[in-house]
Amino acid sequence: MAADESHDSPTETLETAAEEEEAKTFKDLGVTDVLCEACDQLGWAKPTKIQIEAIPLALQGRDIIGLAETGSGKTGAFALPILNALLETPQRLFALVLTPTRELAFQISEQFEALGSSIGVQCAVIVGGIDSMSQSLALAKKPHIVIATPGRLIDHLENTKGFNLRALKYLVMDEADRILNMDFETEVDKILKVIPRDRKTFLFSATMTKKVQKLQRAALKNPVRCAVSSKYQTVEKLQQYYLFIPSKFKDTYLVYILNELAGNSFMVFCSTCNNTQRTALLLRNLGFTAIPLHGQMSQSKRLGSLNKFKAKARSILLATDVASRGLDIPHVDVVVNFDIPTHSKDYIHRVGRTARAGRSGKAITFVTQYDVELFQRIEHLIGKKLPVFPTQDEEVMMLTERVSEAQRFARMELREHGEKKKRKREDTGDDDDTEGAIGVRNKVAGGKMKKRKGR
Ligand code: AMP
Repeated sequence: MAADESHDSPTETLETAAEEEEAKTFKDLGVTDVLCEACDQLGWAKPTKIQIEAIPLALQGRDIIGLAETGSGKTGAFALPILNALLETPQRLFALVLTPTRELAFQISEQFEALGSSIGVQCAVIVGGIDSMSQSLALAKKPHIVIATPGRLIDHLENTKGFNLRALKYLVMDEADRILNMDFETEVDKILKVIPRDRKTFLFSATMTKKVQKLQRAALKNPVRCAVSSKYQTVEKLQQYYLFIPSKFKDTYLVYILNELAGNSFMVFCSTCNNTQRTALLLRNLGFTAIPLHGQMSQSKRLGSLNKFKAKARSILLATDVASRGLDIPHVDVVVNFDIPTHSKDYIHRVGRTARAGRSGKAITFVTQYDVELFQRIEHLIGKKLPVFPTQDEEVMMLTERVSEAQRFARMELREHGEKKKRKREDTGDDDDTEGAIGVRNKVAGGKMKKRKGR
């Protein structure tokens, strides 16, 4: 056990023997029978590492700092002890989970509901971009668990009559590093002021930044630290490659790779909403089942995209970094960094979408003449040199004509969509029609491409 050097409330680091971990069951960790059954029904045969470390301590009533990323089973690591405690002392507005994004909030809620279905757990998701009135109604029913993004929760704490968190027993701050990076610091401080000091707190974060340490000092009492993976390591079953190509041929290489690796599910990362949208249009014009996910889409459309991808109705999800962390998308086979991430840590989060839960996966990063320095930083961060992804350049070049035609269509569609949005904004004040435009236009353009090229 090592003391945390940086603050006045010492923490302990746990080192559990690997062989011991192998044998553990949820029951061994102290989880009550009905919840063990729920795990079983979800197909969770045995606890993950973070669950093995955190659950017994949480059940003993300790505050926890969990250094773990999405995919590690961290949601279960905090949800199970909370549900266990809820069963022992049933109470409304029992726990609050703060998360950085709406998507993550829905995912966490799904896990609470799945684990707690047989005990009738009620959750409310309180996030921006969704009608506030229905949220007020949900809060009036006093759910057991509130899962919220900080900004919208403050709105309700300030404006929803009769709603308060004065009896709260558990606070979870999930992806705390990200909550703080998104400038939710003031909101989190406000929330801490209106909940009881006498509570249990779990703080989960992928990285231990200065801001997270500060929050830890402000919010946790004598916490235990549970860390499951060493810093910035990418998993062994992940095959990582790069592709050094001229910027102007990025689209063509993307199409080549999607064809070469057809049959897989892809997550393609772009740096801007606009490029995400454009690339989705381009791919659809070429007959691919591609769907965008970015911050300029309404919440319902983002969830719609995600669900279609999850249900495998679409094989290519194009996303900005909004989607690169926290999302539980179990079946991504290939991650393509179409635009290289500007922050190298985002690389880790992006490629963490594949090779999860013991499965293998590929990550291919496009490096253009402008990206060399950023790429070197990534290699430095992960501590290895990546191999080149093998391509047949003549075959790639054979695609250029079709791709440039699809690019032309995509540009046209994007322009039309922009104008339509502008008109709609002028007429109604509503400015979101991102996917609608794709759908309608795509049928026309996609049809044309199909006929001409026999796809
Ligand atoms: P999380 O890291 O909490 O986002 O969880 C990632 C995925 O792992 C989710 O799909 C969970 O349902 C799944 N999961 C969590 N715990 C276990 C477990 N013990 N065994 C198998 N899958 C799990």
